[in-house]
Amino acid sequence: MSKYWSDLTASLVPYVPGEQPKGQQYIKLNTNESPYPPSPKVLEAIHVATNADLRLYPDPTCDKLRETIAQYYGLTKDRVFVGNGSDEILAFAFPAFFSADKTILFPDVTYTFYPVYAKLYGLRFNTVPTDEEFRINEELYLVPNGGIILPNPNAPTARFMLVEQLSRILQANRDQVVIVDEAYIDFGGDSVVPFVKEYPNLLVVQTLSKSRSLAGLRVGMAMGHPDLIEGLNRIKNSFNSYTLDRLAMAGAIASIEDQAYFEETNRKVVATRERISEALKPLGFHVIESKANFLFITHPRKDAQQIFNELKNRGILVRYFNKPRIDQFLRVSIGTDEEMDRFIAELAMII
Ligand code: PMP
Repeated sequence: MSKYWSDLTASLVPYVPGEQPKGQQYIKLNTNESPYPPSPKVLEAIHVATNADLRLYPDPTCDKLRETIAQYYGLTKDRVFVGNGSDEILAFAFPAFFSADKTILFPDVTYTFYPVYAKLYGLRFNTVPTDEEFRINEELYLVPNGGIILPNPNAPTARFMLVEQLSRILQANRDQVVIVDEAYIDFGGDSVVPFVKEYPNLLVVQTLSKSRSLAGLRVGMAMGHPDLIEGLNRIKNSFNSYTLDRLAMAGAIASIEDQAYFEETNRKVVATRERISEALKPLGFHVIESKANFLFITHPRKDAQQIFNELKNRGILVRYFNKPRIDQFLRVSIGTDEEMDRFIAELAMII
């Protein structure tokens, strides 16, 4: 490798996603996927689109899907953007809204993609301290800055912010873009999508990967002022003119239209989360209050990496982060009731 190339790539520390095991079968609680299949209507719509439309190019502006999302949220479609997963939208948003001469803010413990993107685009960033329980203090975001990104609920901590806190941040930062990443909002948090019309500096990013069981389809969406949507479109069009393929669009529309299925599966996930959260306490775990489809837990006497390894040997995969401040925590996605009962039973033997 030439010196030039190795210097360039040395500064790029890529994002490392959770393991997707290939051979052995695990109870997979490590990447916050839904344990339930997507709505049967999604499969039906994909089947129909496969037979009818696959020979044709997709609509580059994804009008029908954007219209469906707009209707769902009571917006117009010029306030909606869609992408191949919310990661792609975030990857467009960083260069679209943040500039190298200003400093952006995000929490010290948060989604590891943010520092990766910031470095990739040569952006300066400050990480804002969370407290010992990973709570986000909105006061710390009322300082001069070049933009803010906040996940609500936060990942991997599961901590959520109240809309009142976010509204204070939005008001105090009217001259810069505030991105609220709502990947986990459907598991009990309050969305700031209703604020989109009030705050032209707000971009809300969501995904169909978690609460709609469609991680494999890769569909994300963003809601914001038409100028922000236009900004995302310009970055997108600099890479490729098509966004989603026909099957992803058909599946996404069917998913958003099946409100009853969405509510039913999320109710199940939330009920299991609450039950497991209680079941962990008699085992001595400290559980951070969660409004996501995962729990962030620590044990005062047993090393987290050791628990991770022992669970893995017993066929259960959770997420361990070898990082300062969170290296004694485990992130556990909520599976089915049967999977979570097995998780608790195995844990009881380890602790
Ligand atoms: N934001 C957060 C906070 C996440 O945890 C994830 C999932 N890893 C994403 C965005 C991206 O999800 P997707 O690209 O599947 O929409």
